[in-house]
Amino acid sequence: MEIKLYNTLSRSKEVFKPIKEGKVGVYSCGPTVYNYAHIGNLRTYVFTDILKRIFTFNGYKVKSVMNITDVGHLLSDADDGDDKMVKAAAEQNKTPEQIAEFYTAAFFKDCQRLNILRPDVTPKATEHIQEMLKVVRDLVAKGYAYETDDGIYFDISKFPDYGKLSRANLEEQLAGARVNVNLGKRHPADFAIWKKAEPNHIMQWPSEWGMGYPGWHIECTAMSTKYLGEYFDIHTGGIDHVPIHHENEIAQVEAWLGHKAVNYWMHSEFMLVDGGKMSKRLKNTYTVDDLIEKGFSPMEFRYLCLNVQYRQKLNFTWESMESAKTSFKRLTSHLLSHKQSQNRTDKKVIDEIMKEFHEAINDDLNVPMAMGVLWKMVKLPSSKDIYEAALVMDRVFGLDFDKISEESQKVEVPDFVEKLAQQRFEARKQKNWAESDRLRGEIENAGFAVKDKADGYELVKK
Ligand code: AMP
Ligand code: ZN
Repeated sequence: MEIKLYNTLSRSKEVFKPIKEGKVGVYSCGPTVYNYAHIGNLRTYVFTDILKRIFTFNGYKVKSVMNITDVGHLLSDADDGDDKMVKAAAEQNKTPEQIAEFYTAAFFKDCQRLNILRPDVTPKATEHIQEMLKVVRDLVAKGYAYETDDGIYFDISKFPDYGKLSRANLEEQLAGARVNVNLGKRHPADFAIWKKAEPNHIMQWPSEWGMGYPGWHIECTAMSTKYLGEYFDIHTGGIDHVPIHHENEIAQVEAWLGHKAVNYWMHSEFMLVDGGKMSKRLKNTYTVDDLIEKGFSPMEFRYLCLNVQYRQKLNFTWESMESAKTSFKRLTSHLLSHKQSQNRTDKKVIDEIMKEFHEAINDDLNVPMAMGVLWKMVKLPSSKDIYEAALVMDRVFGLDFDKISEESQKVEVPDFVEKLAQQRFEARKQKNWAESDRLRGEIENAGFAVKDKADGYELVKK
């Protein structure tokens, strides 16, 4: 069955044609490891994961590569601001290497909790400085880059296609925009591929231009082509990468190689919080640990992500998280009853459902629609064939359907909540309604509802 993907370059859904029959190479821009990943970043990696799983589901041999930016690019995508890694290192009194090691481990732990499969190759920027320098050197030799007092810059005027990904009218964009105060640059949108280091800059490497460090964009050019070859199938990233990072990557790589390097550019939309931007200032850059602390499991968050197609904005609110939790719980309890059933379902019915599922995922990763197919299936009369079909679908969803059991469906009630419920039970026996109501409030604050029964009570997670 054909796979359709939305290519940002053509602004249209295209039928995927692999460069090598049965194989697909995917490069995804990875994290800058100077802080914990927030749930917006992780939504982007859930998208990358789903992409990989869908190709595997379709019988492709996938090679996925995701870089780890441990050099630290500058605070803004353009070439100004502080270096994020260096800033974090100074703030935490650690070396940039320690910062990178710590947050790389934290990132992979988050990915594991969210069932994001580890990419096949996860190259670190600091281990590929020589490859980057080679690209810089070649671009200078070919006349695409020039030296200034503070670095080596890519000359966008030499690349007439500059702007083809974002379809930006460069002149319009720059008119009125803050012009970069960098007198050495020939054009304000020229970007650094190598920066000369000040003597006290912590991360620096030798080059023919003295000590320095790479620009961020050059990283992805050097590492993607190293691991996937000079011509590969798919490059992914968050939507914010379209106007600068990926535009610059395209310019560099095509100037360097003399031909296009990537067939499909795919971008996932942003996650918003309460309808607005996620920002440190608003204290709404939540992490996986924040979700867990509030009583949500990583799988419930993954389920939330899967219910919004990757090209739609996902508006995160605690209410939406709550309803994802309730809905996921309902789904897994349906699945448990199918698992425990000995009945069978007509194979034709299952085949029809699986076809619908397959069509949905192959239509530009329409996972919400595929989820709708699953929901339709679980509402059919109980049958173990349905559970087995759900397990096949779970190769794409990655929601741990194989781990569903009586035990996993039970809600763990913390001791203190159990104690409050006991005290409330005693209060009720003594007809102390005020105390009983007060205790109900405390139980609810802890995230539980208490239901009175003839001979006691039942605690349910809200
Ligand atoms: P960074 O570590 O800042 O380079 O970001 C890692 C990835 O997360 C990039 O692909 C970004 O495009 C993506 N990203 C950043 N913020 C958000 C957001 N609010 N929602 C979704 N993806 C995001
Ligand atoms: Zn990148």
